[in-house]
Amino acid sequence: MHSDYKTKIVGFKDFVFRKSLWVFHFGGASCNNCDIEILDCLTPRHDLERFGIMLVGSIRHADVLLVNGSINMRDRDRLLELYDQAPKPLLVVAIGACGCTGGIFAEGITFAGPVDKIIPVDAYIPGCPPKPEAIIAGVARLAGRKT
Ligand code: SF4
Repeated sequence: MHSDYKTKIVGFKDFVFRKSLWVFHFGGASCNNCDIEILDCLTPRHDLERFGIMLVGSIRHADVLLVNGSINMRDRDRLLELYDQAPKPLLVVAIGACGCTGGIFAEGITFAGPVDKIIPVDAYIPGCPPKPEAIIAGVARLAGRKT
């Protein structure tokens, strides 16, 4: 890709993501601890919305796609479908050991991930599970917010 073209794309992304971010959460096959930590980010204690970041129920309204859990063959099709339906540009964040690498499920016979083998990933938040503080810091930094 020509460097000027790349600079223009990055500039456009900065412009698009300057305002409030709407986040869609996709949980693959997991132990559900990462899901609980993601939802904990929205509680009054961690208050993700203070950064203008809120969870939405449709990928068609999202700026950010959070993906956690191991991605199996069935999840892969859903994930591709969601990615295709999302407005672009879209920031994708892989959460937890399972989202980043497949974690303890990576050797499973139905494993089809990790996430970045299926769709482009912009940020990785490791941990098993990562704490809400790490998830909030990762998403906020990706969007250029101060935590
Ligand atoms: S990373 Fe750990 S906590 Fe998160 S879904 Fe995988 S096994 Fe569960």
